[in-house]
Amino acid sequence: MDLNDNLESFFNDDLKKTVEFHGHICPGLAYGYRVAKAALKELGSKARDEELVAIVENDSCSVDAIQVMTGCTFGKGNLIFRDLGKSVYTFLSRSTGKGVRISVDFKYDETPEETAVRKKYLSGDRSDDVMESVSKSKAKKVRSILAAPEDELMKKTAASEALPDKARLYPSVHCSSCGEKTMEPRIRLKGGKLVCISCAKSL
Ligand SMILES: [Zn+2]
Ligand SMILES: [Zn+2]
Repeated sequence: MDLNDNLESFFNDDLKKTVEFHGHICPGLAYGYRVAKAALKELGSKARDEELVAIVENDSCSVDAIQVMTGCTFGKGNLIFRDLGKSVYTFLSRSTGKGVRISVDFKYDETPEETAVRKKYLSGDRSDDVMESVSKSKAKKVRSILAAPEDELMKKTAASEALPDKARLYPSVHCSSCGEKTMEPRIRLKGGKLVCISCAKSL
């Protein structure tokens, strides 16, 4: 998508960082950005450590925006993925015990031309005309997501989830088959040998 399609007015530093991390701007990223903003408004600032926890119920583009904006990341263990295929995001604060559950549901009004082009694209048409129209229509959708009033974009309710345990560190053990370092809880006993899961499968 071309960033020059009148999107600049939305480009503050936060959104720039998000796009830089993700690699492109797209409707999914725009949703994630808005969700993260809404969550931070409720719960305070971005997590340097594990003070915020995000539980995401999909693994779409949106989750990259959640990571950059809220500091809830895969590597720190305060981003939890539940493979439910839903546009639902729950954020919990360890410092206040407060939490918010956000369900995204946005009615984007597609024009009949946009619908026609999308159908062509989905049926495999990658002609220049179609690609250009798809890109324009995506840019328009991104703009409407970024500009929409929060209550037209998402439903926010108090989260009822309990805080998950903090990320734990485990000692490593060397797999007796491949010799590679493996986190202790992932070591398996196979034929009397302590091995990693990959080796357990092939032994
Ligand atoms: Zn994307
Ligand atoms: Zn191994």
